[in-house]
Amino acid sequence: MGILGPLAFLTSLALAVAAWLVGPGLLARWRWRRVQRRPFPAAWRAILHRRMPLYARLPPELQRRLRQRAQWLIAEKPFIGCAGLVVDDEMRVLIAAQAALLLLHPQAGRFAELRQVLVYPGPFVVERASQDGSGLTHESRRALAGESWQQGRVLLSWLDVRAGAADPGDGRNVVIHEFAHQLDQERGRANGAPWLGGREHYARWAAVLGAEFAALRARLARGETGLIDAYAATSPAEFFAVVSEHFFEQPQALAQRHAALYAELARYYGVDPRAWHDGDESRDGPVAPSAAELADAPAVDARN
Ligand SMILES: [Zn+2]
Repeated sequence: MGILGPLAFLTSLALAVAAWLVGPGLLARWRWRRVQRRPFPAAWRAILHRRMPLYARLPPELQRRLRQRAQWLIAEKPFIGCAGLVVDDEMRVLIAAQAALLLLHPQAGRFAELRQVLVYPGPFVVERASQDGSGLTHESRRALAGESWQQGRVLLSWLDVRAGAADPGDGRNVVIHEFAHQLDQERGRANGAPWLGGREHYARWAAVLGAEFAALRARLARGETGLIDAYAATSPAEFFAVVSEHFFEQPQALAQRHAALYAELARYYGVDPRAWHDGDESRDGPVAPSAAELADAPAVDARN
């Protein structure tokens, strides 16, 4: 007895330490499976049919996966109304379902770092101070449709969320944009390279996206416009977020004009959205505004 007591104590201590070490991962996987097995409410399905035309075009298996992922996001992530907005089911479902497009890969991440989704009624004003090279501080006020913070927050304008879902072929979708930033920010500062599932994948990703980013900047410097607009040229992080919007909303045009980039995104997101968009993109594709036009545009940053 004298020796069994300490042994039993040590054994239970070792078990407790083991449970603590593996617990969070196991618990998260258990919740991931359990939440996604819940039935998806009929009222939520009606919201998808009413507000997200792209949903009806997905093959049944991807519709099912999208519902499961959306349901998991709604269960796990707090959606908080700001500036007097009361968040309702339509807002939660429409935001979560569009974000779930980015989680359709069977081995997709789960926005592990995301803590809150803040929803504003419309574009929200942010004030930022920045220093220039000579040390002078500049204050700027901008109205944004969305923003993604490294500390696990996504901020969205509900007006823009709805508009983004209503037109699934214009290449503009604030939810896809901001949640792509979240994927990028999961392992540190956004740099245009989300976690790719293994170190061996980064060389090709960097080569393909780096070459496309450089080519975009060169085109803009020559005053040429194209499918990918000037906002994508501001940084590799914005490039990844903007081309993600094109990938899901204008896949045929992106695949035609930027085949290697399209292939890389298709591998990463684990889907080929071209079949979802049969016949709904204009033949010549949209004409993006030039850098000069963008500079003269009102100070509403639709993507940030
Ligand atoms: Zn952005």
